[in-house]
Amino acid sequence: MIDIGCHLSISDGYAAMGRECLAMGGNTFAFFTRNPRGGQAKTPDPSDVAALNAFLREHHFGKLVAHAPYTMNLCSDKERARECAEECFREDLAKMEQLPGNYFNFHPGNSLKQDREACMERIVQVLNTYIRPDQSTVVLLETMAGKGTEIGKTFEELRAILDRIEPDKREKAGVCFDTCHVWDAGYDIVHDLDGVLSEFDRTVGLDKLMAVHLNDSKNGCGSHKDRHEKLGQGCIGEAALHRVVCHPALAGRPFILETPNDRDGYVREIAQVKAWQKA
Ligand code: FE
Ligand code: FE
Ligand code: ZN
Repeated sequence: MIDIGCHLSISDGYAAMGRECLAMGGNTFAFFTRNPRGGQAKTPDPSDVAALNAFLREHHFGKLVAHAPYTMNLCSDKERARECAEECFREDLAKMEQLPGNYFNFHPGNSLKQDREACMERIVQVLNTYIRPDQSTVVLLETMAGKGTEIGKTFEELRAILDRIEPDKREKAGVCFDTCHVWDAGYDIVHDLDGVLSEFDRTVGLDKLMAVHLNDSKNGCGSHKDRHEKLGQGCIGEAALHRVVCHPALAGRPFILETPNDRDGYVREIAQVKAWQKA
């Protein structure tokens, strides 16, 4: 059975997300580790977190894919913003250990007016500082659309970061493959999914591909726009997304919907993906 779910709001707490996910037909989900626009993180209520952990076990959930706030830029050109981002990364990664064995996904960063290579080095430094070899959380760098100065728009950039993680910490880092982002970045998953996945395998290694963000895109391949669309209503289209869901190289990964939907829309897409997978 496929692990599928969508992005959920943490506003009613942790256990509520588990119940909501199950009610929607899912068995994995994503949530922001704090307000996506930045700001103070709430300290999780330990009994609420324990209730979610028990619920996930009881209902055989797949791994969750928590998302760091979009504002967290580990390679900002402003010292204050960089320090905040680092603090956020440290705190939220530590918080994830209360939900053992899941994923903590983040956007690698924006280089702004700085040298991209120096920015990647900066990201590597943060990862090497805060990843512990004995942690249960695996940190995921998201494949990016290449909007503005985003780092991570090519598989090579992701590899360049992962390669410089200290050997004893390497298995605690991987990649989250976002279908809208890779398409917008110029990887043609519509006409050559096999080719794109082989290229990923040659560059980064498919064993590093831990999770999938399943989104259609409002724009064409290589547009660098990063505007998500509902499954089957964008430029990637239903047939290609169906092939992604069923591709043997991606089997066993959690698939997370980040499509512009209300609750009913997500319920329909979750059912749709499960039907594709069975067909
Ligand atoms: Fe993301
Ligand atoms: Fe994404
Ligand atoms: Zn996006």
